Amino acid sequence: MKSRSQIVPRILDVLRRSKTVALVSHVRPDGDSIGSQLALAEALDRAGKSVVCWNEDPIPAKLAFLDRRGVIQSPCSDKRFDCVVALDAASLERLGSVADRIRDRSILINIDHHISNTRFGDINWISHRNPSTGELVFRLLKASKWPITATMADCLFTAVSTDTGSFQYPSTRPATYAVAGELVKRGANLATICQEVYQSFPLSRVRLIQHTLNNFKLTDHNRIAYFWLRPADYARARAGSDDSEGLIDHIRAIEPVVVACLFEQMKPNLVRISMRSKNPRVDVNEIARQFNGGGHPAAAGARIAGSPEAVQRAVIRAIRQALKSVPMNHADS
Ligand code: 5GP
Ligand code: MN
Repeated sequence: MKSRSQIVPRILDVLRRSKTVALVSHVRPDGDSIGSQLALAEALDRAGKSVVCWNEDPIPAKLAFLDRRGVIQSPCSDKRFDCVVALDAASLERLGSVADRIRDRSILINIDHHISNTRFGDINWISHRNPSTGELVFRLLKASKWPITATMADCLFTAVSTDTGSFQYPSTRPATYAVAGELVKRGANLATICQEVYQSFPLSRVRLIQHTLNNFKLTDHNRIAYFWLRPADYARARAGSDDSEGLIDHIRAIEPVVVACLFEQMKPNLVRISMRSKNPRVDVNEIARQFNGGGHPAAAGARIAGSPEAVQRAVIRAIRQALKSVPMNHADS
């Protein structure tokens, strides 16, 4: 295994030698994936490369302010790339249909921070102690000596901030604050980022929050909370899939809850689950893995085939099993 001191120069060497580069990331993109893609895209563009940023799903509306030039696109035609960089994607499957469009390439670089990463690249820089891919991209760009502009700082600050839950998750380290400080020094516009990302919701999203708070269920002495999102719930709220990001935090925050779980019905027999754990003894990445998913110890997900009832039963059973390692607080019983 290459140590980090070797891997960064190796990645930079490949990027410097490449003329055509594709930057790709996971389905249902978030602040970390979009911010990492856009910052690296601007750096490579300024270095004279021909760059595309391809994702299966469009950029969430609340992140559109980072991409006024419309750099993030869905794959349009089959192209050949000297280099493809996958950012924030734990596996090739997480790229969705984009995985099929990047086959014609000389080399695949995988930069990520998921412990569940399958090391699918030719070069893999997987730093799971790092709370965001944005922080890795920042380290890469600093080592490259390519300029980090104010627009790149906006993108990377958004990446670092969103993947740490605004510097609240325990994954946040002293170095994370140092990186954030450097990004602010380089011109990251905190007022705009915070307004756009955290302080402004479309009504459709508020209607989904309303649905969530009206319909969540508690079980196992209030230690498990879960809720469902079905196509009819989206339709009633006139909402799209990016409106549901972060909904789970509202039920994760309920004091006795240890594990929160969202069940989203994607198709009649396909359910997406999203889980959060508040206790280090309950590793939801391990639970997700039982269903061929992945993520981080405190935040993970999976896509599971089966009827809604069967999926819910199996997932709640797995969470219940994992909760056995957490002693019951008598006040909760
Ligand atoms: P979220 O619950 O916000 O969608 O995702 C939480 C974490 O779990 C993210 O780091 C994400 O990459 C990971 N994750 C979510 N869904 C899946 C999935 O279907 N497969 C894998 N491997 N990881 C997932
Ligand atoms: Mn991430």
